[in-house]
Amino acid sequence: MTDMNRVCIITGGSRGIGAACARLAAKAGYAVCFSYISNPDAASAVVADIEKAGMPAKAIRADVAHEEDILALFDAAAEMGSLKGLINNAGIVAEAQDVADYTRERLEKMVAINLVGAILCAREAVRRMSTKRGGNGGSIVNLSSAAAYLAAPSQYVDYAATKAAIDTFTKGLALEVADEGIRVNAVRPGLIETDIHASGGQPDRVEKLQHLVPMKRGGTADEVARGILWLMSEEASYVTGDSMNITGGR
Ligand code: NAP
Repeated sequence: MTDMNRVCIITGGSRGIGAACARLAAKAGYAVCFSYISNPDAASAVVADIEKAGMPAKAIRADVAHEEDILALFDAAAEMGSLKGLINNAGIVAEAQDVADYTRERLEKMVAINLVGAILCAREAVRRMSTKRGGNGGSIVNLSSAAAYLAAPSQYVDYAATKAAIDTFTKGLALEVADEGIRVNAVRPGLIETDIHASGGQPDRVEKLQHLVPMKRGGTADEVARGILWLMSEEASYVTGDSMNITGGR
């Protein structure tokens, strides 16, 4: 263990926005501990990239829907150094459906991963980083979405509702820990080119909807990660409780 390491935990760091954050966090000088769930090859590739760049990295199979997995992720991170950051990134969409067709199973999974998991991860980060609890302070960035205000009718209103809840949670937690050395912010990505759309059965979603974006294109995972790492950094030392749009103007 290298005590000098500033550790950043990223949930869902194997692909998409989380993987872009993992690589950028390493460049910013963090040792990176990230979770994945189903794609060990993608996770190993991110670890290899970070190690090649000379920083420590660990990939832990940990489902944010399971509290014991979250605790194992934080334990693994503790072996790497002192926790300074959490990027609460893991999230899912579901098939496009009207609310009238939702099943309870769909809703429970959506809320367990996108909301309960994110809040539990934030709880663990606060327990370790709060200066009132013996920590050294740090920063949390939660992944919201433009869906929080667009509301995603006939797509995934349930997803949108979890992201609106993330915005509210971000504000509330930020105010709660503002004098405990912890800044808490969110980013709201718009249409970003990642696998998440295919996982919801719409692989061509960005191509189909990009005409609705004022900048007339989808964004990249790197463009979102750069905003997240800025919020994590000392450059954003007076920013807390904010949700920042990264949407090409949408
Ligand atoms: P993605 O490409 O589908 O990648 C999801 C990542 O999360 C993968 O690393 C995946 O691991 C991991 N993951 C999935 N379920 C998990 C769970 N239960 N526990 C732990 N890890 C889990 O997603 P993305 O597009 O990068 O999205 C990342 C975040 O940004 C999400 O919160 C999403 O809602 C938000 N967002 C995305 C967009 C967009 O257009 N892409 C827009 C707005 C907001 P495996 O590789 O092992 O499957």
